[in-house]
Amino acid sequence: MNKFWSSAVARTEPYVPGEQIEQEGLLKLNTNENPYPPSPKVVAAIQDELGRKLHRYPTPSVDRLREKIAEFNQLNPEQVFVGNGSDEVLAFSFMAFFEPGKTIRFPAVSYSFYPVYAKLFDIPYEEVPLNRDFSLAWDKFFQSDGGVIFPNPNAPTSLYLDNKHIIDIIENNPNNVVIVDEAYIDFAKESAVHLVNNYENLLVVQTMSKSRSLAGLRIGFAVGNPNLIEALNRVKNSFNSYTLDRLAIAGAEAAIMDVDYFHETTKKVIHTREWVTAELKKVGFTVLPSDTNFLFIRHYKINANEIYQMLKEQNILTRHFNRPSIESYLRITIGTDEDMTTLIDTLTLCLCQKN
Ligand code: PMP
Repeated sequence: MNKFWSSAVARTEPYVPGEQIEQEGLLKLNTNENPYPPSPKVVAAIQDELGRKLHRYPTPSVDRLREKIAEFNQLNPEQVFVGNGSDEVLAFSFMAFFEPGKTIRFPAVSYSFYPVYAKLFDIPYEEVPLNRDFSLAWDKFFQSDGGVIFPNPNAPTSLYLDNKHIIDIIENNPNNVVIVDEAYIDFAKESAVHLVNNYENLLVVQTMSKSRSLAGLRIGFAVGNPNLIEALNRVKNSFNSYTLDRLAIAGAEAAIMDVDYFHETTKKVIHTREWVTAELKKVGFTVLPSDTNFLFIRHYKINANEIYQMLKEQNILTRHFNRPSIESYLRITIGTDEDMTTLIDTLTLCLCQKN
């Protein structure tokens, strides 16, 4: 605390991201990135853009990218907002739709950025505990005072909530915005995106960091009723109208258009996820049924923090959360088949040494 700090900064505890270590030989399975590089068409588009107009500002309304995202989702461009990673889109959404004095709800546990934004913008919040099996207690989100936000599938639990329950939440919050954070939806069954045509209070937020392999480029987007999108534009244009740079825009356009590459890599990740789940169960892990590109696992005998440390000593980075309700679990990102073979071999060896 410093006398020069605003009260917002003083009360905020910043988000602590997963370790971002760039080290030769490190198997990085801790922040849910895609193990596959982006489509070659993305790289070509960025290279092409490099030779163009970097001395000129990008278009603030990012029209072409919004058109392409709209086309992919069978929506209109006025229903699409793009931002610098979905973290930025979420921050703008908190500012646009939630406010001091009205309590919002989100699950405990879920994405740890939500309480950070709430504190920074002075928005009171209520954390709704998950059910004992970690599923979302969807009926506890009805009639909120100030709005609702939750990830689907949830993070870090990896569990998916069916659209019929999402509709229940939306219909039972007629005067508030319901934000569904679909960071991992492309690894799951069905998105809620098309519901924005029916519900004016639904905002769906997605990212290109996971299924499009573009974590390094920082592209996120939201879809919703044009009234909601206009509110997001008001917030954005009051901070930084040019929030996406020209290279990111060019790369994102190419990524959204290369549908084949997207389907191919997503399918590979899902296939790997399924066999890794089976293998982990064989060596004594409980694995929650994942609809994401990561697994949330617990060993029947060995402490999760101990497994995290053992793997780190072997140059494999996973994520362990020091939160009481989930401290016995470890979150592991799905890598390539080769990465996951290394993981399973290492785990098997470590577990043998412990016995
Ligand atoms: N929402 C959830 C649930 C996430 O796990 C993440 C990634 N950590 C994000 C949003 C943010 O993703 P990005 O800013 O890379 O788009």
